[in-house]
This record gives sequence, structure tokens and C-alpha cells, in this order.
Amino acid sequence: MLLQEQRELVVEYGKKLVTTGLTDGTFGNLSVFDRESGLMAISPSGMDYFATTPEDVVVADLEGRVVEGTRKPSSELDLHRLFYQRRQDVNGVVHTHSTFATVLSCLRWSIEPVHYLVAYAGRRVPCIPYYPFGSLELAEAAWEGMKEAYNACLLGNHGLLAVGGSLSFAFDAAQQLEFLAKVYYYTRQAGGGVNLTPEELEAVLGKFQSYRQA
Ligand SMILES: [Zn+2]
Repeated sequence: MLLQEQRELVVEYGKKLVTTGLTDGTFGNLSVFDRESGLMAISPSGMDYFATTPEDVVVADLEGRVVEGTRKPSSELDLHRLFYQRRQDVNGVVHTHSTFATVLSCLRWSIEPVHYLVAYAGRRVPCIPYYPFGSLELAEAAWEGMKEAYNACLLGNHGLLAVGGSLSFAFDAAQQLEFLAKVYYYTRQAGGGVNLTPEELEAVLGKFQSYRQA
């Protein structure tokens, strides 16, 4: 079986999506990229995370063709594939419909740097317009909204996308950015927060760089 180790990671982190409250039911999806073979292991479409086994995880190439697996890959395959294709530093992608990130995406609010954890995404968390789920337009718009500058964005009227050098980083980002979305929502409800200054933000980003490499 191809990408055994990566398939196991997809199963493990899929369950974590549910146990940490980042997703309900079968929503959301995640993948790991193996740069050596040029193949990705991605969660199957519409399957319960606790019923998913490594055999159910689908292996696909960067053109989106299924290389191994009997299940249908996640409908957001393009959303994952584009980042692996265009960014050398991305080897893990997580997409969730976590509550506060989704609320902000429906309000079309980008998250401003009111809390230092914004560094998981970059200098802010941009929100892109709405595009139908599973479409190449959505994947291209997410790419346009993030490119090399961001590790996450809010997908308008939909949810959150987070990428990272590993699945574990992308997962941590999704989790911390859900907390940030909640903080940002309440901060704005209370009349608006105080943004970090550009200097304060740069200092955090510098610290994050070394923390991520550690
Ligand atoms: Zn979705």
C-alpha cells in the first residue's frame, strides 16, 4: 500500500478534528503530501472520521488523479493539490468548518492582528469571497488570497483553510485560528480591539519562525 505512514496520519488527525471540536460529522478534510513520490494522502469524501481506516484514505497525484484507493477523494482535492504544487514549504493541509472561523467567513471579516496567535497565519487572516465548495474556482481564489504570504485564510461563507510544513503544523494552525476567530469576534462585539503594531507583529513572526523550525 502506498504512503502507509501518511495514510495513518490522515486517520489520526481526522479523529482529532472531531475530538477537538473543529468539525462535526463528516465535514472538513485533510491531507499529507510526500514530496519524494509527488503523491498525497487525502481523506475520503463524506466518511465518518472514526470509521475511516488507512485503506480508506485516497492516494492522488498533483494532477488530481487517484493513484491508489477504492474511495472517492475529498471533494476539495483541488484546494489541497494547488498548495502542494505551488509551494515547496507546504506538506500538510487542513480544511474545517469550525464555528467561529465559519461565522467570520459569513460576515466576510478578515482577522486583524489583535492577538499574537495570528502569526500562525501571517500578519492577518484574509477572508476570500464565496465560491462553490469543491470547485477549482474556490481553490484558485484561496491560492490568490494566500500565495506565499499566508498559511491560512477564511473561505467566504464556508470555513477555514490552513496549510503548513507538516500536517501537525496545519492542524495546530486550524485549532489556534479557531480560538483567534472567537477572540476576534468577541473583541469586535465589545467595540473593537487594539491591533499589534507592525513592529510587535514582526517580532512575533520572527519568534514563530524559530519555533516552527525547532
Ligand atoms: Zn468545506
